[in-house]
Amino acid sequence: MLRREMPPATVSGGWLLRLDSAGGVAPADDDGAMLSRVDPWPESAMRLGYWSEVPVAVSVEEGQEWPPAREWLAQVSSAESELIATALQVTRWARDHRFCGRCGHAMRRLGHEFAMHCDHCGLRSYPRISPCIITLVTHGKDMLLARSPRFPPQRYSTLAGFIEPGEAVEAAVRREVMEEVGVDVGRVSFFKSQSWPFPHSLMMGFFAEAASRRIRIDGEEIVDAAWFSPDNLPQLPPVYSISRQLIETHRGAVAVR
Ligand SMILES: [Zn+2]
Repeated sequence: MLRREMPPATVSGGWLLRLDSAGGVAPADDDGAMLSRVDPWPESAMRLGYWSEVPVAVSVEEGQEWPPAREWLAQVSSAESELIATALQVTRWARDHRFCGRCGHAMRRLGHEFAMHCDHCGLRSYPRISPCIITLVTHGKDMLLARSPRFPPQRYSTLAGFIEPGEAVEAAVRREVMEEVGVDVGRVSFFKSQSWPFPHSLMMGFFAEAASRRIRIDGEEIVDAAWFSPDNLPQLPPVYSISRQLIETHRGAVAVR
């Protein structure tokens, strides 16, 4: 498990997670592990915290091509997923915030937390996290699932969208459902959340009870949507996704009624 405490600057080695510049993750050895013991770490390595009480860092290596992070997320534990998500997000943030967004001078990475500081104007920048809602709309036992044009053929999933500035999370659930499928929802209840590092989403999962069954899709973000009964589901997202967990949780709950 990742302990989120920054190792002091005097620590020079420990576990190392290696990423390629597209976010692929290097296998550490033949048994499928992803962390290697490296001392000293490469100079560009970013400290992440402690993994099993040993300091852990991430490095990005140019010119490599390793298995994509999504493939790893399908196989590893939730603790390892958290480590991968953290590593992907902080390395991209450091790459994309080298210069101050206010005055244009070079930023300096602080050692004790994930922060970039502009010595010229004092602006401090933290890793961006983009909150999103993801919601399973239900009507009795049935589930409303939809297809985005970006999905693999035949796949259906729950509805999702970014929360807008100034908007409450529950309001975003109601707005997204109305925009994407034209359905009014009644009770909305929180399920759980999941980091989704593509590139920096925080998915907040909800169940939403539909007030009516009539669907009106927008035709852009959603190309098809339909009601599905638990015993007749289409192709679904991978099991590690919160979308699939929403669907399986509802399926389990209505099966025992
Ligand atoms: Zn500045």
